[in-house]
This record gives sequence, structure tokens and C-alpha cells, in this order.
Amino acid sequence: MHWSFDFKKIITHTDRVIAKAKAPDIIKLSWGEPAFPPSKKIREALLEAFNKGYTRYTPPAGLQELREAISDKLRRKNKIDADPSEIIVTVGGTGALHLIFRLIAKDGIVTIPDPGWFAYPSVIRVAEADPVWVDEKKYGYEALQKAREELKRKGKELKTIVINSPSNPSGYIFSEKQLKEILDFAEDYSVYIISDEVYEDFILEGKHISIASIKKDYVFTVFSLSKTYALTGLRIGYIVAPDKQIAKELTILQLHTCVCPTSFAQYVALVCIRDRIEEEYISKWISAIKENIQYLDKKLKERGITWEKPKGGIYAWFPLPGIDSKKFAFELLEKKKVAVAVGADFGTKWDEYIRITTAVEPEMFREGIDRILQYYDEIQK
Ligand code: PLP
Repeated sequence: MHWSFDFKKIITHTDRVIAKAKAPDIIKLSWGEPAFPPSKKIREALLEAFNKGYTRYTPPAGLQELREAISDKLRRKNKIDADPSEIIVTVGGTGALHLIFRLIAKDGIVTIPDPGWFAYPSVIRVAEADPVWVDEKKYGYEALQKAREELKRKGKELKTIVINSPSNPSGYIFSEKQLKEILDFAEDYSVYIISDEVYEDFILEGKHISIASIKKDYVFTVFSLSKTYALTGLRIGYIVAPDKQIAKELTILQLHTCVCPTSFAQYVALVCIRDRIEEEYISKWISAIKENIQYLDKKLKERGITWEKPKGGIYAWFPLPGIDSKKFAFELLEKKKVAVAVGADFGTKWDEYIRITTAVEPEMFREGIDRILQYYDEIQK
């Protein structure tokens, strides 16, 4: 049987760690989700959805009232001017990315930030395109032009640029200057940008700028309810398309992929966005994340390890000099019962890095860090 993609290439080391980290006594710092409980209002909204009859197919682009609430949120929070007809509600941010890659990247190349979310290469390959890593901090006109030329020499076409701000894993936030350069490049070479902003609410330093607030002609923006509301199981995200016609094409793709996202999950999303329920807890979560980062910073400094503190997002990304992160992650899971993500999955030069989730209760975080560094100290001897 011939498959259009290589399964070996789409299963990462981190996927394997996560699959192995099932026992309840394992401290799970490998997951990409806040471990805090979701708001009680969400449970009420779910019951309300059933009582109000949101149990049937919805329009393939999502409930009209949800897209209207999203349009208001975009104007208020992201300074993006988008009509509901340019918005598609999707099965999480992953469903959003997949639809976009299928539409615009097939058989082409997609640049992704290095370091970048370990699942990008897999999602891109599933959509029958190929990823190329570009240094996150140099991600701008010149680097993209260089990448494009190199690809051209190899007979390949750069079709899409992915940016992710705040970043998973590094917490890097793209500057306005960088965003403008990327927009200029996209315009000059007619390349689309996918701006993944699923961590928009987790800002620790500086501010979040949505690239589509500067100009939206070439930009697909992806948002998700997974992180902001600790609702990774809801599976609701959304796309802001560059225009109405492209949104229609994405809608048809979604119709023939899954018909529509789950109706009652969309109703819950409507309540979350319309009633801005994140406002009651997000600053508390951010305080816990900052406290965790401070603890980690102190422990790394004690060992003379230098790292860059994140400016946003829900992760800490740091080196453990001298380790092989692949081996380290599996041994750590077995010997100390802590699950971490494997640096090597996140780009080209991160074999000594690990990524851990900071959006967990400080007590558990401290215990996790102590075990990680204890094991690191043991293998240094
Ligand atoms: N984009 C980034 C950078 C992520 O880290 C994730 C999840 O970890 C997603 C998108 C997709 O999340 P979801 O499909 O749960 O919305």
C-alpha cells in the first residue's frame, strides 16, 4: 500500500513520551495545556447548550451568533476588522491549521519558526506539504528571501510562512518591526502568512500584536479556546481568513472534512467569548506562571545554566548542557516519574533542550523541577 506521507516522520519523540506518561503519579510537564481547572461557568454553558437544543448540525463555518461574537472580540481585543463571513469556526487550532495548509500549501514548502511547536512538521506533512525551519529571531525579510532563493534553486516553492507569537516553546514575542517585514515579504512575493495566536492571552512581558491588525490581505490568523479557557478537550478554534472568498473555500473544505465543529462545543465557545469569562482568572494564572518561572530561574542559576526567560506563552524552554534530550526524557519518565517534551522535536539545534509547561500549580511545578534537576545532577556525576 502506498501512503502519501511517512508515518515515521509524523510521530515525534514528544508524542511517544506523552503516550507513555499515563500513570496517575506522573508529573506531567510535557502537555501543551494549562493544568488549572476551567471556569464553572463552562459546565453551566454545556448544560444550557443541551437545554436550548444545540445538538444538531450547524452551518459548516460555525454558528452565526458565535462568528458575530468572535468578530466583536477581534475588533476589541486584536484590532482586527473582520466580518463574520471571514471567520470559520474549526475543530481546535489544529483543525484550523490543517484546513489552511490543505488549501494553500499542498506540494509546497512552509517555513516555521526555529524553535517551533513540534507538531507543525507533522500537520504540514499530513497536508502534503513540507516544512523548513527558519531561525525565530531572524524571521524577517532577509531570512525569508534567503530561504525562498535556496528553495527555488532546489526546484521547490515557498508557499506559506507560519509565525507563532507568543511562541511555543520559547515564549518569544514577534516585534512590530519583524511583523512588518514579514508582511512586506508576503506582499512582494505573494506568499501567505499563517499567524498562530493560540497563546494570545498569556503575555508575561511586552504586548501581543496581531499581525492582521497591521494588514490582513495575506494573513490567516488562527485562534483557539484550548489554552485561554483550559479547554483543550472542547476542540474549538477559529480562523480569520484574508477575505470572504477564501473563507468560503475553507468552509467547503471543512464541510467535506467534518461537516462542522461540535454544536454544543460551539455554544460553550459562544458563552466564553461573549461573556469574556477569561477576565475573571487569567491574571491569577499569569501570576502562577511567573512564580514558576522565577523558581526555575533560581534553580538553573544555581547550576550556572543560562537561558532566556519567556515573554509569553505557557512554557519554559531551556538547555541542560551535556544531555541528549531524547534519552533524558525517557529515562526521566521511568526513573523520576516526570514527563517533559523533547527539545530535538522543536527544530534544528535543540538536542540539549527540554520544554516544560509552566501553567501548573506552583507546588507541583516545584516538585517537577526538583526531580528533573536532581536527575540531571545525578547523571553529571
Ligand atoms: N498552535 C500551537 C503553537 C500550539 O501549541 C497548539 C497546541 O498545543 C495548537 C496550535 C493547537 O491547539 P488546539 O488544537 O488544541 O487548539
